Amino acid sequence: MGKIVFWIVVFFVILLAARLAGIAAAKARRNAAGGGRETKASRKELEAEPTVRCVDCGTYLPKSEAKPGPDGYRCGDPACARRR
Ligand SMILES: [Zn+2]
Repeated sequence: MGKIVFWIVVFFVILLAARLAGIAAAKARRNAAGGGRETKASRKELEAEPTVRCVDCGTYLPKSEAKPGPDGYRCGDPACARRR
């Protein structure tokens, strides 16, 4: 009986070790693929992108999508002039 318990304990220790090794490997893989923190930072940057107002139609849009003009940003939307 004692022998069976011993082997059950050995089995669970091996299982635990395999799981820990798997977690470590997954973590290492994640770090190798650019790093999770970096991805989160760039996503935050995207969310925090400033919005600008189109001088023609008054639509707010991300600054990267706006077209800067001499008197301000424009949305570049073909419907922009109609919205004015
Ligand atoms: Zn516009």
